[in-house]
Amino acid sequence: VKSYQAVIIGGGPAGLGAAIALKKQGIQDILVVEREHHLGGILRQCIHDGFGLTRFGESLSGPEYAQRFIEEAQRLQIECRTDCTVLHLTEEKIVTLCSRAGLEVVAARAVVLAMGCRERTRGALAIAGTRPAGVMTAGVAQHYMNLRNIMVGREVVVLGSGDIGLIMARRMTLEGAKVKGVFEIQPYPSGLPRNIMQCLNDYDIPLYLSHTVTEIRGRERLSAVTISQVDEAMRVLPGTERELSCDTLILSVGLIPENELSLDAGVVLDYRTKGALVDEHYQTSVPGIFAAGNVLHVHDLVDFVTLEAEALANAVTEYVKRNTMPDCKFTVVPGEGIGHVVPQRCSGRDAFTLSLRVTRPRRDCIVTVHQGGREILRQTVKNALPAEMLQYSIPAERLNAEGDLEVALL
Ligand SMILES: Cc1cc2nc3c(=O)[nH]c(=O)nc-3n(C[C@H](O)[C@H](O)[C@H](O)COP(=O)(O)OP(=O)(O)OC[C@H]3O[C@@H](n4cnc5c(N)ncnc54)[C@H](O)[C@@H]3O)c2cc1C
Repeated sequence: VKSYQAVIIGGGPAGLGAAIALKKQGIQDILVVEREHHLGGILRQCIHDGFGLTRFGESLSGPEYAQRFIEEAQRLQIECRTDCTVLHLTEEKIVTLCSRAGLEVVAARAVVLAMGCRERTRGALAIAGTRPAGVMTAGVAQHYMNLRNIMVGREVVVLGSGDIGLIMARRMTLEGAKVKGVFEIQPYPSGLPRNIMQCLNDYDIPLYLSHTVTEIRGRERLSAVTISQVDEAMRVLPGTERELSCDTLILSVGLIPENELSLDAGVVLDYRTKGALVDEHYQTSVPGIFAAGNVLHVHDLVDFVTLEAEALANAVTEYVKRNTMPDCKFTVVPGEGIGHVVPQRCSGRDAFTLSLRVTRPRRDCIVTVHQGGREILRQTVKNALPAEMLQYSIPAERLNAEGDLEVALL
């Protein structure tokens, strides 16, 4: 069995960012495994711009952003296998690969989980009605239009105000389709404010909050959807139904981290993030298995995926060289007003970046972190939105010798 110092599962921004940083830190035996024909992950189909503002200080398209990392990986001669899927991963870090050449088993000192996420589908929402063509997720519509040059519809309804849905509402308008509206079940949008402005307001596409699709109609092709209003508890309000004719329903209703392989290896998941429970070194509950990017928690901007993967690489290098990481003494838990936090544990030895999301929109509020009852961080936030991940640096010298950490929004 061939063995590597690090096997990285997924050749998207997280996997490539980690691989490049590892190589630069002197880790020689690295294998990146990517199931698609090309490296770059989901960015290959995101042809709009706005990528790289934080990481590179310039606005790039998704493929341009990805290409920088692909070229760097090539320059550093990192072994990247495309058209190759990881089928199985064990706790002992034995990795089963599947490609045209057949099955192959390799061993790894450290494994980096960088499998990204997938989209929630109609099945997950259980919308009533028939099963016609024309109902698809925003990512599928994006794939058809941007990678295959296939127009997916003419009269469009978008369900969910996630960023990819907003971007596709604009994209379809630019291609000549009529987008009749974006319908969001929550009383606030779930996409970034800049995408509401640039993708909906600039094109006069209406956004209906506290609304959802309650029925899908059509035989061969979608012909209409029923739209209903909902109350604060997201229950449908009887009598508010109206029919809207359309041939395409685009779903932008959330992303789910792809953690089947993680579960195979016995990695413990956080029910809030649907990603692995990690410490400040991005190490999961299984020693030597690390996770970063969308497989760990859904990010709104790819720049933060890259920065996270680069931070993870420091820890993987330490693990590969010493075969151990510091023990985790403390848990980090989300308190009042906080949906989730990453990491969920820490050793107290090192500084780290705390990532979190709030549960609902709030203005002029304060994020606090307490350890064992003592405040170690207090930050005012002008506008806290569930759509925007918040990040704070926790310096090592602020951490106390004892006590779990609790994050709250006041
Ligand atoms: C449809 C869609 C559109 C998006 N648009 C934007 C956007 O416009 N702007 C933005 O900032 N962010 C966007 N995002 C968020 C985006 O996912 C992240 O910014 C970033 O691409 C995540 O990087 P990643 O490496 O974690 O995951 P990905 O880019 O998803 O890469 C994961 C890679 O792992 C591979 N993989 C998975 N399982 C296996 C396996 N078993 N074996 C081998 N390979 C495997 C996949 O093929 C994929 O290439 C979008 C996400 C989606 C789903």
